[in-house]
Amino acid sequence: MQTRETDVIVIGAGAVGENVADRTVQGGLETVIVEAELVGGECSYWACMPSKALLRSAAVLREARAVDGAKQAVTGELDVAGVLRRRDAMTHDWNDSSQVEWLQGAGIDLVRGHARLSGEREVTVTAEDGTTTVITARHAVVVATGSAALLPHVPGLAELEPWTSREATSAHEVPRRLIVIGGGVVGVEMATAYAGFGSEVTVLARGGLLGGLEAFAADAVEAGLRELGATVRTGVDVVAARRDGADKIIELGDGSTVAADEVLVATGRVPHTADLGLERVGLEPGAWLDVDDTLRVRGVDWLYGVGDVNHRALLTHQGKYQARAAGDVIAARAQGRPVDDAPWGVHVATADHSAVPQVVFAHPEVAAVGHTEKTARDAGLAVRVIDYDLAWVAGASTQSDDYQGASRAIVDEDRGLLVGVTLVGPAVGELLHAATIAIVGEVPIDRLWHAVPPYPTVSEVWLRWLESFGRPTT
Ligand SMILES: Cc1cc2nc3c(=O)[nH]c(=O)nc-3n(C[C@H](O)[C@H](O)[C@H](O)COP(=O)(O)OP(=O)(O)OC[C@H]3O[C@@H](n4cnc5c(N)ncnc54)[C@H](O)[C@@H]3O)c2cc1C
Repeated sequence: MQTRETDVIVIGAGAVGENVADRTVQGGLETVIVEAELVGGECSYWACMPSKALLRSAAVLREARAVDGAKQAVTGELDVAGVLRRRDAMTHDWNDSSQVEWLQGAGIDLVRGHARLSGEREVTVTAEDGTTTVITARHAVVVATGSAALLPHVPGLAELEPWTSREATSAHEVPRRLIVIGGGVVGVEMATAYAGFGSEVTVLARGGLLGGLEAFAADAVEAGLRELGATVRTGVDVVAARRDGADKIIELGDGSTVAADEVLVATGRVPHTADLGLERVGLEPGAWLDVDDTLRVRGVDWLYGVGDVNHRALLTHQGKYQARAAGDVIAARAQGRPVDDAPWGVHVATADHSAVPQVVFAHPEVAAVGHTEKTARDAGLAVRVIDYDLAWVAGASTQSDDYQGASRAIVDEDRGLLVGVTLVGPAVGELLHAATIAIVGEVPIDRLWHAVPPYPTVSEVWLRWLESFGRPTT
């Protein structure tokens, strides 16, 4: 057994852990990061990056096919082998050496192995060869261990050895028939990707698709999946699973069955906290970490929970945002500097509550930030809903001969502020950040009249929203 001491220990070298460590090092604190698998975590190897690589080529083809003059040049079909090759390049063939190099350049010390809390500010790391290192932190321990796919308790399902998001994003063969259980973002994106590859895809969702987003966006995505040839069954319950020869069979509550060559389970996430020694510090193993706005675990003043593991917003960019706040506040507290923890201060992740941007890379793409109509009404705001068909914007007609899109802006009339935006259409993810800035900056609607969107771009929807809302009079 080896022992060592450092200022800060970060458990988990996913995107979030890397960013916390970067900030604590920049804040002058010696930092050790512990990683059990690949430096870079889920996002780089089994989530954001490979999933977007699997989706992009078919989206480009669809866009080209929607523009006269370009569509004539598209004479072939999607080259699935090429898509998988591009995905492999994007994941560096699941080799993390470039990220390890980045850690070294940033002055972050990497220890490989499985970390468990073993005492106050103490972490024991077990390496693959069984050797252990006990590390003590002078200031803080940060848990950035992320989340894993949830496998629901359905009789027979585990025996099918179904895919989770990991297998779906790293597959080297495309199943002829694929069942996707779950209608959330992961289920929808992977159904879109595999339908694009030519798989016969059946989506089975207990509720509707994309719960939490505006219903019109979810409806557009459902119609898009059908257009790609997928079968979408909403309001169905998966009650059992079994094999029949080579077929994997899913039994539904209404007595019907669906057969496929592969089953993807995308029914949610569980925190990576079951085998972390949480019980040693009085916390419940397997639970999401409950943190305050400085990302400090409630009740343990030296422990922080950042990224997926705190369940505030399971998105890489939001976790990295939290990481910047957490890393900086750890350094401030260690050095006795003032903590800026008022809303929108340097040391808090205020945007988690009101301005989380998200893009669903489906067909069509959906981009949303802030409130939906429902959450705004539930929050008791004086809601004004402005709907505008994106296809009516001049810029849309230059983009595509058959532009299909939709948009909704939510205004809090009492404060004269934009509080939510949802966009549906090709590449709308690239339009979203303006809305995030307007919401976070609380830019008054009256001032937005002076933010002129260029003509002819799809951004002109901003002008249409303002016109619908009404121009201020003197
Ligand atoms: C299919 C899919 C697609 C997604 N697409 C997007 C997207 O397009 N955009 C987006 O913003 N988000 C996306 N997400 C969500 C995103 O992947 C997560 O929000 C993000 O990876 C969370 O980062 P993290 O650092 O908190 O956790 P992780 O990336 O999971 O990293 C945690 C790290 O901790 C390590 N670890 C765990 N326990 C221990 C331990 N005890 N000891 C040592 N190491 C440990 C793990 O090995 C891992 O490397 C997607 C998710 C999925 C599943």
